[in-house]
Amino acid sequence: MPRDYYDILGVSKSATQEELKKAYRKLAVKYHPDKNPDNKEAEGKFKEAAEAYSALSDPEKRQRYDQFGHDGLKQNGFGGGGGFSGQGMSMDDIFSQFGNIFGDAFGGGGFGSFFGGNTQHRNTNRGADMRVNLRLSLEEIYNGVKKQIKIKRFENCSDCHGEGGTGKHTCSVCNGTGKVRERVNSFFGQMISEKVCYQCHGQGTIIDSPCQTCHGDGRVKKEESVTIDIPAGVQDGNYMTLSGEGNAGKRKGETGDLIVIFKEQNHKFFTRSGNDIIVTCVITWPQAVLGAEIEVPTLSGKVSFKINSGTDNGKIYRLRGKGLPVLHGHRHGDQLIQIKIETPSQMDRDEKNLIKELYQLYSKKKNSKIEKFIP
Ligand SMILES: [Zn+2]
Ligand SMILES: [Zn+2]
Repeated sequence: MPRDYYDILGVSKSATQEELKKAYRKLAVKYHPDKNPDNKEAEGKFKEAAEAYSALSDPEKRQRYDQFGHDGLKQNGFGGGGGFSGQGMSMDDIFSQFGNIFGDAFGGGGFGSFFGGNTQHRNTNRGADMRVNLRLSLEEIYNGVKKQIKIKRFENCSDCHGEGGTGKHTCSVCNGTGKVRERVNSFFGQMISEKVCYQCHGQGTIIDSPCQTCHGDGRVKKEESVTIDIPAGVQDGNYMTLSGEGNAGKRKGETGDLIVIFKEQNHKFFTRSGNDIIVTCVITWPQAVLGAEIEVPTLSGKVSFKINSGTDNGKIYRLRGKGLPVLHGHRHGDQLIQIKIETPSQMDRDEKNLIKELYQLYSKKKNSKIEKFIP
């Protein structure tokens, strides 16, 4: 069970937006990774605070959280922008979302510059995230599905166990920091600028005999299959973040994430509208006039269905609960059946005669007008 968001930020339930911002800013400065290098605990706290702030600073999310707790946010965790209720937030997400919050606190300097430089150097060795599109049929979305996909990604090199080779020594240029400082003359006077070390490329160490297989990188490209467990009810454009399933980092650096984006396939005859499913059913006009019992396909199999006598063209019937399940919910949408009456364009002589007879009977009826005009 995750910690209470208000507790994390150390504010009361009635805190104003300004108080939330202040509290978050304080924590983010305290636990900022640049101030706490290689400190997993600080990183965890940093992420936790960002997650709490991300939820509470959004009035709609805050209301749901107040009402339902963490579960309230899970339901919507899928929405285009949300990810899985924040727990999938990467450092990059945090910086791109909240970087500017620090602007006003530190005289317009912004997050990055206040802490001395961009955030890149922390992640020199982190493997890149991967994005894949995954096509799903409506049936798969209806039931939820486990899918295996093949991806080509960097994996730790097995020949050097990800080390990149043997005989490591500290880089003499940067003394192991991976960075070099240089003075630059600028419009504002002399400034110190930090750059990635040209000799070790930010690694801080030099390998004397690099591994032949990976050329010192500590990783090689491989095809791997990954199993993805997709819950029922997802929508086109929803995504899942599989943390640590992306590219392996250089020389045992952190592994990137795999982001799976769902694409919904068009169905032969079903159209989706939110959680409802729409299907058009073509019937003959005798069926429309007399009524009929027909079989209708649904995502859970065929059901038999009664069309009332005197059904108009365009009428919509509703099969309750036969639509798609609500993501992480207990409810299903409906299936809508729209009736289309087919008018035959070709008939043989017997059929035509029967219809003529019917037409004459119909015309003789009292009050029966054939042409009618309605607004
Ligand atoms: Zn190797
Ligand atoms: Zn170096």
